[in-house]
Amino acid sequence: MPEEQDLMEKIVSLAKRRGFIYPSSEIYGGINGFWDYGPLGVELKRNVKDAWWNDIVRCPPAGPGGLPIEMAGLDCSIIMNPKVWEASGHLAGFSDPMVTCKECKKHQRADQIMEQLAQCEWVQEVIQFCVVQPDGRAIIHGNGLLGWARKRGRKVAPGLALVRNPEVTISWMVEKAAKDGPAFTAEEFVKHVATEQFAQTGLVTPCPYCGGPLTEARQFNLMFKTHVGAMEDSSSIAYLRPETAQGIFCNYKNVLDTTRIKVPFGIAQIGKAFRNEINPRNYTFRSREFEQMEIEFFCHPKDADRWYQYWRDARYKWYVGLGLKSTKLRLRDHEKAELAHYARACADVEYEFPFGVSELEGVANRTDFDLSQHQKFSGRDMTYFDDETKERFIPYVIEPSGGVDRATLAFLCEAYAEDEAPDEKGAMQKRTVLRFHPRLAPIKVAVFPLVKKDGMPDKARAIAETLKPHMTTFYDEKGAVGRRYRRQDEAGTPFCVTVDGQTMADGTVTIRDRDSMKQERIPAAGVLGYVEEHLKR
Ligand code: ATP
Repeated sequence: MPEEQDLMEKIVSLAKRRGFIYPSSEIYGGINGFWDYGPLGVELKRNVKDAWWNDIVRCPPAGPGGLPIEMAGLDCSIIMNPKVWEASGHLAGFSDPMVTCKECKKHQRADQIMEQLAQCEWVQEVIQFCVVQPDGRAIIHGNGLLGWARKRGRKVAPGLALVRNPEVTISWMVEKAAKDGPAFTAEEFVKHVATEQFAQTGLVTPCPYCGGPLTEARQFNLMFKTHVGAMEDSSSIAYLRPETAQGIFCNYKNVLDTTRIKVPFGIAQIGKAFRNEINPRNYTFRSREFEQMEIEFFCHPKDADRWYQYWRDARYKWYVGLGLKSTKLRLRDHEKAELAHYARACADVEYEFPFGVSELEGVANRTDFDLSQHQKFSGRDMTYFDDETKERFIPYVIEPSGGVDRATLAFLCEAYAEDEAPDEKGAMQKRTVLRFHPRLAPIKVAVFPLVKKDGMPDKARAIAETLKPHMTTFYDEKGAVGRRYRRQDEAGTPFCVTVDGQTMADGTVTIRDRDSMKQERIPAAGVLGYVEEHLKR
C-alpha cells in the first residue's frame, strides 16, 4: 500500500510542520507511544471533546419514541484504589500476548504479527521469489533469492535465516518444496525463509522489523504500575487507570444519591487513560497515554437491547455528522466468539485510516457485570430501586467507549486534501488543505489587511478583536495575501476576512470560503453573524 503510506507520511509531516502533533520530549529523542499536541492540535482535540460533550452530555439525541435522555458528567481521579482493578478483572486479565525477537529484541503483539508482516517491506520483496504454480507447487527462484539475501536482505532483514545463512536455507527450502509438495503458501514461504535447516521446532515466524526468529507468546499486563506514598513496597502499589469507565461505576451510587436522575440514564467522562502497549504504532492511533470519551448508560435489563441499538446508531451518526465519510466508516458487529464472557453484544465503529481499517470506538452491552463485581468486592449495595414499579435490580450497562486521539486522527486524515488554487499571478498551484468540519477547525476565522498601510492593519486588528471572545481568531499581516490564504488552508481555517481599500471607503470586507475559495463582500459588522451561522452547518 505505498500510496496510503505516502499519504500517511504527508499527514504526519504536515501535522508536525504546522503544530498539530509533536513527538513527546523530542529534544531528548522522544519516547515511544507518547505524543504532544501543538497549538493547532490542542484546539482541534479540544473541539472534538467539546463536540462530544455537547452532543452527548448536554444535548443527547432523543431516545426511542422521542424519549428525552438523561445524562450526567464526571471527572474522576486517574489513580484509584487498587481494589477497583481487582474487581474489574484488569489485574488478572488485562493483558496482550507478547513475542520478542531473539535478534533485535523488539517486543511485539503476537496477535498482530501476521498483519504487520503483510505490510512490511522485506516481505513484499522476498515474496517475489516464490511463484505459486496452477498445480499448487511453489517455484522458488533460488538465484534471485540468493542475490537478494546477499545484498538488499542485509539492509532490510538482517535477522532472517535466509540472510544470515543463505545457501543452507535456500537449498533446504528447495529440497523441502520438491519433496513435500504441495507448494508453500505465501505465509509458509515467509516462515521458511526465516527458518534454518537445523531448526528443531518447525517453521519460525519472523520478526517484521529484522526477520529474526520470535519467541513463543507470553501474556503481558498492560497496566502501568506506580507507588502511592513514601514506601515503595507491595502494599503501596497503585495503577494508572487503563480506562475511564471504572471511575464511573465507582460513582454510580454517588450520582444517583446526589441528583434526581432515574434509570435509564447515562454518565459520561472524558479523561486520560494509560496502557503500556507492547508495540505502539500507527502514529497516535496506538499510544501509551491517550484520552478516552466514555459513556456508561444504566438501564433496566429488559430494555438493554433497545438502548444498545440506540447508542450503536447514535455513535456512528456522530462521526458522520462531523465529517467522516460513511464510505470510510463502518459499524462492525462482533461475532459471538469475539465477545467478552459477560457481554451480550458489541459493535465497533471502524474507520478506514491510510494504514488500514481500525477501531475508533466500541459500543458494548456489558450486562450487570461491572456493577455486580463492584458490589461483590466493595460490599456496597449497587442495586437500583424503581419507585414506580417497586422493583429492585442491578441495571444493565451499555458502554460506548471512544478514543479522543483516534477520533482526532481520523478527522485529520479525512480532512487532508490536495487540490489546486491560483497564485498571485493567476497560475494554478498545488494546494494542501484541511477540510475540517467548521465545528472542529482549530481556527475559525483569520483576518488580514490586504497591505500593511493606509490604516488597513488597524482596521483588521479591530475586527479580529471583536471576533476573539466568540471564536478562535487569527490575525496575520505578513507576506503576500495569497500565501496567507494558503497557510490558513493548511491549518483548516474555514474563513478568511480581508480588509482592503474598499473597506476604508464603505466598511465592507471580503470573506473567503476555504473549500470553494469564493469570496463574498459583506459589512465588517456582519462577519461574526456570518461565521457563526456557517459554524452550525
Ligand atoms: P484495541 O483493540 O485497538 O487495542 P480496545 O478494543 O482494547 O482497542 P477499548 O478497551 O475498547 O479498546 O478502549 C476504548 C477506546 O479507547 C478504543 O476504541 C480506542 O478509541 C481507545 N483506545 C484504546 N487503546 C488505545 C491506545 N492504545 N491508544 C489510543 N487510543 C486507544
